[in-house]
Amino acid sequence: MHDVRHERTLVFIKPDGIQRSLVGEILGRFERAGLRIVGMKMVWARPEFLERHYPNDETFLRTIGGKTKEAFAAAGLDVNGQTGSDDPLAIGRAVRGWLIDYVASSPVVAFVLEGIQAVGTVRKIVGDTLPFRAAPGTIRGDLSIDSPTVANLQRRPVRNLVHASGTVEEAAAEIALWFRPEELFAYRRVDETLIQGQ
Ligand code: ADP
Repeated sequence: MHDVRHERTLVFIKPDGIQRSLVGEILGRFERAGLRIVGMKMVWARPEFLERHYPNDETFLRTIGGKTKEAFAAAGLDVNGQTGSDDPLAIGRAVRGWLIDYVASSPVVAFVLEGIQAVGTVRKIVGDTLPFRAAPGTIRGDLSIDSPTVANLQRRPVRNLVHASGTVEEAAAEIALWFRPEELFAYRRVDETLIQGQ
């Protein structure tokens, strides 16, 4: 049975977070929330590896393309006139290519966090994909400012500092992709009983 107390999720700090020296700030927010770091490493991922992390499936492409459409509509801009397409799938394909090249452009810091409903909790701490929509108090809302209306015109992905798994199933697949079982550790935090009971 799925144990929500020991749910695990994958996070990595993207090149903008590394280059802006925000590793400590970002990690600290997760640690302070009560999440346990059970594995961590710096990785310079190759594009072929990231092709597996960001799947070439229609649902993912439509999701990221749809975010472009929403952001252009919210800003009162004509997505077709500005990006050359209003098809979420075509936009999604372009964004995925930029994203893979971007994440492969510098080392990233990847880690696995464990705790009560870790997947949802971490997404909440990270905030909305699009920094201009991310709430204050979240990592993206406090520390980033980007928008697809700017990013897409510059043919680059939105810079939003971190990746975090979206669902429990995605987390399991991503953890298995990024970490070998022997790179993950079980240990107790001294404040664990206060955070999650016995
Ligand atoms: P999240 O990272 O919040 O799970 P997605 O999985 O939908 O978001 O998208 C993956 C990454 O692709 C985002 O974190 C962001 O860097 C980039 N991205 C998503 N949508 C767009 C977009 N419309 N324009 C540019 N970059 C985008």
